[in-house]
Amino acid sequence: AKREGRNCFHYFTNSMQETANTRMRLANDLRHAVKNGELLVHYQPIIDLSTGYIQKAEALVRWQHPKSGIINPDKFIPIAEETGLIVEIGDWIFHQAATQVKYCRATYNSNFQISINKSPFQFKVDSSRCHSWFEHLKKLGLPGESIVVEITESSMMEATNNIYDYLLKLRDNGMQVALDDFGTGYSSLAYLKKFDIDYIKIDKSFVQSLSSDSDDLTLCEAMVVMAHKLNLRVIAEGIETWDQFELLKSIECDFGQGYLFSKPIPANELNQLFAENTAF
Ligand code: C2E
Ligand code: CA
Ligand code: CA
Ligand code: CA
Repeated sequence: AKREGRNCFHYFTNSMQETANTRMRLANDLRHAVKNGELLVHYQPIIDLSTGYIQKAEALVRWQHPKSGIINPDKFIPIAEETGLIVEIGDWIFHQAATQVKYCRATYNSNFQISINKSPFQFKVDSSRCHSWFEHLKKLGLPGESIVVEITESSMMEATNNIYDYLLKLRDNGMQVALDDFGTGYSSLAYLKKFDIDYIKIDKSFVQSLSSDSDDLTLCEAMVVMAHKLNLRVIAEGIETWDQFELLKSIECDFGQGYLFSKPIPANELNQLFAENTAF
């Protein structure tokens, strides 16, 4: 047994070493990714469920690695946070999204909004960085409300004071705030009480079993009723079937996104959907 244990131990350390090496390599590569133009922002349309038209889009970052191909954000955002690169990357995403929202507002829909995801690390940014974003929007002639900032419930747990100031600053400048992955954390309701927000995003884990699990329909309906009483709008994520779409419409959920409508797509494809006046 001892010998086996030793083998196990060896195997374990080797694979741990490998993981650590992979992460180090990725961290190194990520340093050049922005400069080398390897990062891409894709946009997932968000549909007004009552009309079927595209009203917003969520910006989701991808990394086109020269050797490993497309790397998803779940893999490299944590590394970007650990290394502090998330600040530079976050700024870059913001600039991309601002350019895109300006184009869509001018060309297709003057109320169009783009939402961007913010990691907890980014709440530690100083106020001057926030300020540079507002300045950038002004320079483009865009109101704050053209941008929605998505913050996950789990990130609200950390650094509460920072986040509180941060959200105030965003909202003072007209930006809107969405509470992402709603219902998956431990104190969803406490956050609604504590923070001024504009949207809750019902997590896809509730949406995906809507037709098979009647409890999930009840939960979604309760979230929508509660949100509306608090003057918040609701966005459902992860809609994959017409059945889910119809059920969410029937409980008056305001907005939705998911593979049923579109996967996250490059800017030119989003523009194409608008140009075709797509309605679902
Ligand atoms: P999230 O904010 O919850 O984003 C939604 C995720 O669900 C996206 O994965 C999206 O592609 C995926 N999704 C959309 N529709 C469907 C559907 O119908 N079914 C299923 N099964 N999935 C769907 P993605 O793009 O891989 O992003 C993963 C996470 O990475 C995001 O979760 C977000 O937390 C984070 N992330 C993405 N972009 C950024 C970014 O620019 N900054 C930061 N800080 N985090 C980001
Ligand atoms: Ca999100
Ligand atoms: Ca989410
Ligand atoms: Ca989620």
